[in-house]
Formats: sequence, C-alpha cells, structure tokens
Amino acid sequence: MLNFNVLSQKSNLFNSFNTPLVCEKMNSELSGFYKKNIKKRINEISKKAKLSNFEKKTLLKETTLQFKVVDRMVENSIGTFETPLGIATFFKINKKDYLIPMATEEASVIAACSKGAKLARVSGGFKTKSTKPIMIGQLQLIKIKNLTKVKKLILKNKSKILKLANSVDPTLVKFGGGAKNIEIRSLKKKTLVIHLLVNVKDAMGANAVNSMCETISPMIENITNEKVRLKILSNLAVHRTAKAKAIWLEKNLGKEVIRKIIEAHQFAELDSFRAVTHNKGIMNGIAALTMATGNDYRAIEAGCHGFACLKGTYEPLTKYYKDKKGNLVGEIEIPVQFGLIGGATKIMPKAQIALKILGVKSSQELGEIAAAVGLSQNFAALNALATEGIQKGHMKLHAKNLATMAGAKGKEIDTVAKKIVNSGKATFDEAKHILKHLRKNDKKK
Ligand code: NAD
Repeated sequence: MLNFNVLSQKSNLFNSFNTPLVCEKMNSELSGFYKKNIKKRINEISKKAKLSNFEKKTLLKETTLQFKVVDRMVENSIGTFETPLGIATFFKINKKDYLIPMATEEASVIAACSKGAKLARVSGGFKTKSTKPIMIGQLQLIKIKNLTKVKKLILKNKSKILKLANSVDPTLVKFGGGAKNIEIRSLKKKTLVIHLLVNVKDAMGANAVNSMCETISPMIENITNEKVRLKILSNLAVHRTAKAKAIWLEKNLGKEVIRKIIEAHQFAELDSFRAVTHNKGIMNGIAALTMATGNDYRAIEAGCHGFACLKGTYEPLTKYYKDKKGNLVGEIEIPVQFGLIGGATKIMPKAQIALKILGVKSSQELGEIAAAVGLSQNFAALNALATEGIQKGHMKLHAKNLATMAGAKGKEIDTVAKKIVNSGKATFDEAKHILKHLRKNDKKK
C-alpha cells in the first residue's frame, strides 16, 4: 500500500499522478465548467490543483480517443486515462484459437492467464456454452393489496405489453431480439416486481431494456390500477450466462498440486472471506477483457458478484474436481452482459481493434471467451498458490513498478528491479535503498 510520504513526493510522473489534491482553500464550485472546452477545463484544474507545467502537458496530450469524442462521452472531461493493453496467448476455445486483448494495470495478470491457457491447451483447451442473451428489466409495484389479482391482470395482458415494449426498438426486433416474456415475483412488504425478459442480441442491452421498461410503465399502471415506481435493468443477468470447462492433465501438474488446488478451492467454498478474493482473481481476467473491449465493467463485476451470492452466501464462481484419470477439471459459470454494439464499444477506437483481434461474431461468443478467461485466470492463481505462492510470479513486474515509484529512470529501472527480485524483498523501502546505493556507486565510478 502506498503511504502518504510516498504520495507526497513529486520527484517523478508516477508520484505526481498519485499526489492527493490537498488544497485546503480550494473551492470546488466551478460554475459553467461544463460549458468550457477540454483545454480550458485543463487550464482551470491545473491552476486550482497547482499542477506543474509537465503535469498540465500530460493532461493535454491527446490519444487515439480524441478530445472531441471524449467530450461527447462524459461530462466535464479533462482528457483520457490510459491503461496498459496486452494480449493473453495460447487460448483455444471450442477448437478455435483466440488472442485475448486485456486492459489492466495489474502486473502478472496477462502472464498468468496465458499460462492457464497453455496448460489447458494440451488437453484440447476450453469448452464453452452459453444461453441466449436475455436481459431482465424490472418494474417495481408497491403497497399492493391483492397480489394475486394484480399478477393475473399482468399475465392476461402479456402479449399486449410485449408488443408495446417491442415497438420501442424495431432494429433489435429486426435482428431477432426484443421483449420475449414476463416473469412476476412477489417480494416482502406487499411489493410486486415485473421482470421483462428481453433478448438483446449483440448489445449489452441496458439502454434498450430501460427504454422498454419506461415505455410499458403507463400501460402496466392502466392495467393494474397500481403505481409503478422504479423501472430499470437488473445487472443480475441470470438468464444470460456462459459456462467454460477445461482439463489440466495430471502428468503436467502432478498429483500433489492437483490435490492442493482442490483444497484451495474448498477453502473458498467454506469461507466467504476467501471466496471474495478467489473471485477477485477470476475478475482480474474478465475485467481486463471487459475494459479492452469497451464494455461496462461495473455491470460485469456487479453481475458476477451477485451471481456468486445466488444461494444466499457468497460462493466461488468456479469449481474443481478430479476426473476418472486423475486429471484436474475446472468449471465456471458467469453472467455475461457483453456487447459488440452500442455503449462505448463502437466509439472507442482501441475497443474496436480489440474486438477485431478477438475476431468475435456475437455477444454470446464474447461471453463464452470471458468465461474461459476467468477460468484460466483462476486456475493459474490457484496453481501458483498451491505451489510457489503468488508473490514470486508477481515479483518481476511489480519490482519494476517499485523501482519507478522510487524514482529510477531509464536503465536504472531494470537494474533496481533485478536487485529487488534477488533480495526477495519487494517493498518500496527496498527499492529506495537499492536506488540510493546504485547512484552512490555510479558517482564513485
Ligand atoms: P445502445 O443503446 O447504445 O445500443 C443498442 C442498440 O443497438 C439496440 O437497442 C438496437 O437498436 C441497436 N442494434 C443494432 N444492431 C444490433 C444487434 N446486432 N444486436 C443488438 N442491438 C443492435 O446500447 P445498449 O447495449 O442498450 O446499452 C449499453 C450502454 O448502457 C452501456 O454503455 C452501459 O454502460 C450503459 N448503461 C448501463 C446500465 C446498467 O448496467 N445498469 C444502465 C444504464 C446504461
């Protein structure tokens, strides 16, 4: 964890990005800020936050995501925020090879994900399947006196309601999607929830579903003579899931490692404290793929964690067991609210390139890839935990980050990182200590 001493150092770019904006007398009422163009906003923020010229220039640098596009995407924008983009290799899914673009700031994620895929590849890679891309739109009705009567009225008018919902999105309907069904759930406190089930085809579907829910709301009120409160998509996409399965051979892992991986998984089954971290590891891969393809990572994260709680306690999203030959079998099932169309996917140039690298043809295919990525990532983490521990793999790249944080420049970064790895102490203090000595010795020469 970075401490405030570290954060307050302004010696290099890394530190300055992390310097908290401690401006005691700074007033955050920026009236008309939204009316200014990005450059003027950067000027204003630079003055307020006392940014150096270098820091201001860093903000002003335009990337492939141009300012004019960014300004249309979010409010009060002051530029873009870059994340490293890499490729996970060795993936074979349903007999097809894939290169997996991953956007992540965390060291070792891409290497671990590739390692899991490489080891699964020898037994045929990942086998996946998925359900149709059905999303849920919710309409909340409260203080219902006669739940049974209201339920009956809604179901009686189902086709009329679906027809109205479908009038909202003729394009979606043209592609074979649209509102398909209605489910009704009774909750406590005399609350009734209508679930509008919409096939969103290759979209993530939030806008499509929200518009449908808002459109049918007055009709529901007319039919039931009750008031509709919230009308909004649910990110717990239980009808839109993908499964992946892989086999890791005993001859490659060894009996002992397989036993330890199964034990590690058991720990997550028994304990939510462990299960959350277990699933965080799974999301390392899935979130990186989500980011790279311009998808909504909050939706994917919320959906997966909600799915992990379906049985009432927080559980691991994967399971592991031995097959008859003693090989390790891993399985995963996750909700997959991915889109190839809509949202930011078509707007962000690099997301489009990522989708081209993947070569996916449908949102379902992308969801299945995500499931395979999550499983591979999880296997690699458990394999590391069961054998050498997680830190060794992390160390190499993390050491470079520590070296940079400590102020190392150019060739110094590799030299300091190497010495950190050799010392076995991946700490900021160690990096500072090594850099200090390195520079002292260089001066002497
Ligand atoms: P969208 O509305 O931008 O695009 C989807 C539309 O594209 C469809 O409604 C359809 O009319 C059209 N389309 C064209 N070809 C299609 C095809 N082959 N398959 C499906 N549709 C096709 O996007 P969206 O997917 O409805 O919404 C996604 C955006 O909504 C994301 O940016 C997300 O962040 C945001 N959002 C999310 C939430 C949430 O998750 N709770 C809430 C609100 C908004």
